[in-house]
Parts: sequence; C-alpha cells; structure tokens
Amino acid sequence: MNNEIVIVWFRQDLRLSDNAALIAAHKSKRQILPIYILDDENSGEWKMGSASRWWLHESLIQLDKSLKGNLCLQKGDAHSILKGIIKKHDVKAVYWNRCYEPWCIKRDTYIKKSLSEKGIEVKSFNSALLFEPHTTLKKDGTPYKVFTPYYKKGCLENNADPALPKQTPKRLSFYECSSLTLDDLKLKPSIKWYKQIEKEWQPGEKGAEACLNQFLENGMNHYKEGRNFPSKNNVSRLSPYLHFGEISPNKVWHEAKMTMIENRCEKDGEHFLSELGWREFSNSLLYHFSDMPRENLQKKFNAFPWQEDDALLKCWQKGQTGYPIVDAGMRELWQTGYMHNRVRMIVGSFLVKNLLLHWHYGEDWFWDTLVDADLANNSASWQWIAGCGADAAPYFRIFNPITQGQKFDSDGNYVRKYVPELSKLPNKYLHAPWEASESILKEAEIELGKSYPEPIVELRASRERALAAFKSISGINSD
Ligand code: FAD
Repeated sequence: MNNEIVIVWFRQDLRLSDNAALIAAHKSKRQILPIYILDDENSGEWKMGSASRWWLHESLIQLDKSLKGNLCLQKGDAHSILKGIIKKHDVKAVYWNRCYEPWCIKRDTYIKKSLSEKGIEVKSFNSALLFEPHTTLKKDGTPYKVFTPYYKKGCLENNADPALPKQTPKRLSFYECSSLTLDDLKLKPSIKWYKQIEKEWQPGEKGAEACLNQFLENGMNHYKEGRNFPSKNNVSRLSPYLHFGEISPNKVWHEAKMTMIENRCEKDGEHFLSELGWREFSNSLLYHFSDMPRENLQKKFNAFPWQEDDALLKCWQKGQTGYPIVDAGMRELWQTGYMHNRVRMIVGSFLVKNLLLHWHYGEDWFWDTLVDADLANNSASWQWIAGCGADAAPYFRIFNPITQGQKFDSDGNYVRKYVPELSKLPNKYLHAPWEASESILKEAEIELGKSYPEPIVELRASRERALAAFKSISGINSD
C-alpha cells in the first residue's frame, strides 16, 4: 500500500460487492477515499424525489457501516467538490461506475476531461447494467426500438452470458477526509410521512441480499403466472435495490439462473430474466433517445388532445377515483413507496386514457413517490402505457379497471388491504361498488359519495373519448 489516494465516487452503486470501481481502486494499492456527493445542482428537473431521498438516507447509513465509518459525504456541484478535495489531499486518481441518465453523462464527461487535463487518472466502469447501451446495437449500428429482438439478439445471442459477479475486496485501506454529516444532506423530510415505508423496507446491501434470497426461495417458482397478481408474493421487489445499485444485476441474473436450474422452473426463471432485460432495454432507450423523459418517442403524439383537470389529477394521486383497484394501487404507492407492476399498468392506463391526462403527470407523481423511481424505467414505462413509446402497448389497449380487478384480485385481498372502507363488501361487488344494492352497501357500511367516492369518470364514455382522441392523430406521420 502506498500513500497515494484514489477517490471512489459512489453514485448508484451503493454496495461493496461486485463493484468494479472499488475493485480497481483496491488493486491500484492506493488508499481509498470513498465519497458520496448529493448533486442537486446538475440534475435539473430530475432531482431525486422525496421517497428516493428517504431511501438514499437509509442506504448511506448502511454503506458507511460497510466502509467502517469512512464514507465522506458532500453536497453540491460534483466537479467543484472533487476539484476541492483533490487540491487539498494527495489524490492521484478518481474512479466511478457509470450512470446512464443524460444529465449524469453530460456532467461526468466534463469531469473526466477536466480532471484528466490536470493529470489525475480518471477511470469509469460498468457496474449497473448487464450490457451497456453502446454495445447492444442492431447490425446496421442503430439502436433497437423493439424489445424482443433487442433482448434475443442483443442480450441472449450476440453476447456471452453477463459477466459473473466479482468478489468483494478484503482489507480495504481507507484515507480519512472531513465529511458533512448525513443530516447536513437533509434527505429526510421534517414531517414523518415515511413511517409505513420504513416498516416495509430494509435499504442497503444486506437488505438487497435478503430480498433476493427471499424471492429465490419463495417467489421464483410460479413467477410467470404469479407476477400478475398483486397480493401474491411472486415478484422480487428488487427494483429499489437495483436502482440504487445495492445489488448488481449480474448477481441477480446468475443467482436466478442457478435457482431456475436447481428448482427446474425454467419458464419462470426465463421470464424473470427477461424482466431484467426490460431494465436493460429501458436504459438503452434512454441512452439513445436522451429526451425520452419528456418527449414522445412517436412524434404524432405531440398533437394529442390531452385534457387539463387538477381536480381529477388529485383524485388519482390520492386514490379517490371510485375504482377500487386504481385506488388500492395509488394508496399502496403512497403508503409503501412501491406499487405492483400489474397495478402500475392499470393506474397508468386509467390516468392517460380514462382521464385523458398527460403521461407527464403520472411520470412526475411516480418520480416523487416511488422508492424505485428510475429515469429510464419510469419514462420508458409511461411512454409504453401512453402508447407513444418505442415499443409501446397499442393506444387502443385500454385496461378496464373492473375486469382487471376481478381477474387479478378476485379474492379482493389487495383491495381490502389498501381500501379498508370497502372491506365488508362481498367479492361480487368489490371492484364495482356502485353495482351493489342499497341494502348490500348499507350492510357493508358504505355510503357511496361519502365513505367511498362515486366513480369520477364513466368507463365506457371515457374509453370512447380516448379512442376518438387517438383517431384524431392516427393519420399523422410519426417521424
Ligand atoms: P420483478 O417482477 O421482480 O422484476 C425484477 C426486476 O426487473 C425489477 O426489479 C426491475 O428492475 C426489472 N423490471 C421489471 N419489470 C420492468 C419493466 N416493465 N421495465 C423495466 N424494468 C423492469 N421500474 C422501476 O424500477 N422504476 C420505475 O420508476 C418504474 N416506473 C414504472 C412506471 C410505470 C407506469 C410502469 C407500468 C412500470 C414502471 N416500472 C418501474 C417497471 C416495473 O413496474 C417495476 O420495475 C417492477 O414493478 C418492480 O417490482 P419488482 O422488483 O418486484 O419486479
């Protein structure tokens, strides 16, 4: 070990295991200065949302523990902060793992150039994706816009299996540096709205490991079918851990593959791997179409006649639409910082089609309230739901919240959990309370319009209106 210092700049890789930048720093035999910078100055309109900030606060506590109290916390413009530390200490190198948000790419490219010019060794690595976006292109060199060929050719055929996860380096040698306190970052709000969220999650590397193990033991068998039912435990809930890099996708991929072979559940396992493929695909789209978070990928949607209605938007956000499966989803989100994928699709379709409100409203609300808020996955998924994305659900596919509820929550467990005021209603009416007679409603202690809202839109009419809106742009050339 020599006296030189290498900064390991932690970003969306809040773990020690399978962390390429950390491994390289250890190999360089320099003392490691681990640093996290809360950079709200360069993120523009994509500053981390409130639920993500809560998660980050907890995750930094865990990361600091793993680093034996050596994590240096900073806040502000990353370039100025790195420059300041380099000036003060004998820093010879800065290593980090790459992020793919357009604002990060812009900032990091600048930092790399600026520090390199000053003689600092700057190295960046891939530790967030199975395959980086620039490596997964069509034969003609252009990016894939459709998932299936992307996944088959890009991930499964053209490349070898994703790299095996690497060992955590042992006996790391740290360099101590003055740091802000975690409270200085002000990640947690003064009003404790996160009490329920706190009970649901264990942020950090250990929590990620426990979550993966629990899924592989109990959820993976029957994943393909079970993943559609919000009250079943067949999904992994790994999304926030993957977003913050508390576990590497390579580890998830390889452990899932091993379990699927051991448990002989190939169909379930392959389906799960393909969902990791959707994460890769979303990142690839964001990398190649950097305006995806705000601009319709299909340009004809620029002429779409969206409505503006604050009152309807508030009902949706608060889970007061009068459609039980939609309200359950929106309340699950508010209470836990998470929403099951099936229900994300139902509430998304309801917002953009039945309420005819712009997908940006949904994207922004999810950005603020999800603990797994992720620029690539969130914007690609909202474009998919709205029908304006690269490989989107056709616009005329409008989810019916009543039949979706009846099909995927037929025993009503999910709705009863999050919409307790409907808990006494028989299953037959649970997804359409207004169809119950006065006496049934009375027996279930429900007063429609008082204890639970009347539907805020009529399904058939709103569906017709959505289809007419779509027809109005159908003749327009997309490119
Ligand atoms: P699992 O079913 O266990 O899947 C494993 C992993 O695969 C997930 O953790 C996730 O990393 C990835 N994955 C699964 N489905 C998708 C998908 N459709 N697109 C991309 N990656 C996927 N996911 C986010 O991580 N962040 C978001 O901000 C986000 N916003 C969404 C918004 C909408 C409107 C919709 C419809 C989906 C959104 N998703 C988002 C995708 C998906 O709903 C979540 O990744 C998934 O529900 C997370 O739960 P899980 O970890 O149990 O998933």
